[in-house]
Amino acid sequence: MADDASPLISKLRKMSRSNGSNGSPASKREATSKTTTEAEEHCDFCSKSIPPNHRHFADLNNMKFMCACEVCTVMQAEKGEFHPLPQRYEFIDDLEMPETMWAQLKIPVNMAFIVYNSDREQPIAFYPSPAGSMESELRLDSWESLKNDNPALKNLAPDLEGFMINRLDKPHEHFIVPIDCCYELIGLIRMHWQGMHGGDEMRDAVRDYFKHLKKQCG
Ligand SMILES: [Zn+2]
Ligand SMILES: [Zn+2]
Repeated sequence: MADDASPLISKLRKMSRSNGSNGSPASKREATSKTTTEAEEHCDFCSKSIPPNHRHFADLNNMKFMCACEVCTVMQAEKGEFHPLPQRYEFIDDLEMPETMWAQLKIPVNMAFIVYNSDREQPIAFYPSPAGSMESELRLDSWESLKNDNPALKNLAPDLEGFMINRLDKPHEHFIVPIDCCYELIGLIRMHWQGMHGGDEMRDAVRDYFKHLKKQCG
């Protein structure tokens, strides 16, 4: 288990946010702000500048994610308006997802993340596309059996943590990460997608993302 976001992940986060518009995780304020790749991060509640390691909150209704300074983290936790995001970045070694389960999802790209949606009482697989994230419902019995075979998935926080699947290269990689990290990937792919199938630039960006993510997991 690693601490909060490394500078690298923060940078990726910023990259995907600065490109945000409809359906992306970027907050309105960030979506309209200028792209400032090297700028330091700021608290989304009080605008104070913050170090790379800081807490995040989620507005699940609008799928917006906010950075918080220490003071605002305490205040927001008391208020309870937004959900504090877990800080777990875990690489799940030797997880094998049955090919039949992956096929059942009918996901046209080699990556996805699964989040248990507590409102719908349903695990949902999300995958990136040039238009943002797309959904595919996972059968509950498939999800239960996957959890039974892989204890690491049993305590996945509903709505707030994602089970990330990377099948771009072999061996396939699996992670448990906060959902803002999942949506960063969606934003990154939107930003780099070219042509019918995404293109090499997109794939390089995705490989880079997973490389950093794996490092983050330690
Ligand atoms: Zn603040
Ligand atoms: Zn942040």
